Amino acid sequence: MSTEFVKHLNPHPATDEVREAVLQNPGFGQHFTDHMVCIDWQGDVQENVGRWENARLQPYGPLSLDPSTAVLHYGQEIFEGLKAYRHEDGSVWTFRPEANAARLNRSAQRLALPTLPEEVFVDSIRELVAQDQAWVPSGDGESLYMRPFMIGTEPFLGVRPSRQALYSVIASPAGNYFGSVEPVDIWLSRTYARAGTGGTGAAKCGGNYAASLVAQMEGDAHGCSQVVFLDPERDDAIEELGGMNVFFVFDDGRLVTPELTGTILEGITRDSVIQLAEERGLTVEQRAFTLDEWRDGVRSGHLTEVFACGTAAVIAPVRRLVSNDETIGPEDAQPGEVTMSIRQQLLDIQTGRAEDTHGWLTRL
Ligand code: PMP
Repeated sequence: MSTEFVKHLNPHPATDEVREAVLQNPGFGQHFTDHMVCIDWQGDVQENVGRWENARLQPYGPLSLDPSTAVLHYGQEIFEGLKAYRHEDGSVWTFRPEANAARLNRSAQRLALPTLPEEVFVDSIRELVAQDQAWVPSGDGESLYMRPFMIGTEPFLGVRPSRQALYSVIASPAGNYFGSVEPVDIWLSRTYARAGTGGTGAAKCGGNYAASLVAQMEGDAHGCSQVVFLDPERDDAIEELGGMNVFFVFDDGRLVTPELTGTILEGITRDSVIQLAEERGLTVEQRAFTLDEWRDGVRSGHLTEVFACGTAAVIAPVRRLVSNDETIGPEDAQPGEVTMSIRQQLLDIQTGRAEDTHGWLTRL
């Protein structure tokens, strides 16, 4: 049964001129569509009771929160990110939304927030895109980025799970995240960790990103667009980037990606890359991959490509790892063959140029 949303349409939607101007140069996360979806929850996660209610489509705009609202004090917040793509025939599709729904619920469990039925998650996206479909760009590499999120909304200062929550979806037209597929340098953070054993590393919660910002600032100051985090307790094993997972490609047809230990985010792009790589006959090893192996692989020439992957940038070739002590990787690195070929295959599936043999696409 599909979710019923009460519709409160925006009396002042963007004019065609304004929307077209935005779509000419969408950037990332700066402009939002005319509407948003909101659903309220009340209950008690400790008692495992509660109900979602008041599902609505409403004009995009500020939320009004009491200053004592739980999320503003203890950070009970989780989110997701997925994209809607316009296919050549004008239809709009999204990629593996049920995987985002499942991850949202894993995050919810870790942050003591309520879970949301998978079909409500997919319906919420469908509702917003159906209303605001004129905002889905059609240019190469462009999409409508959708940001479902959930916050604890109970006005109460006690430290316990909020007994009220808001689930919402907003959407923002997006261009190519890094602007091009030029290989990027990434910064090795030695000062800061992103996650620890038993922490929230595998959850997509705002606090993880707040904690990564100073490391990101360090990276920015060194000309790096992303930060890579290590697990110092496991021989400097590589974990992931601030917002992407990472893969290492060897000249014998092996791909290595850090295993899911509970401290890294289970990327949906990561999972898709693993499947596509294995279908090509490549071997994918999910295991600890240390900084020493990265350095040795580059020195010996056997490590031929490094790439990062995530919904926003899809797949981004990595040029060098930069840190205070050393730089690993050739300055003139070009995007690798495996990197670019898997990237193209994934983009082709998402944009409808290749057949969706995995059943990864959902029509919105
Ligand atoms: N790691 C982190 C920390 C992220 O924020 C993201 C983006 N969601 C990813 C990995 C990649 O995940 P996905 O492929 O599902 O976008």
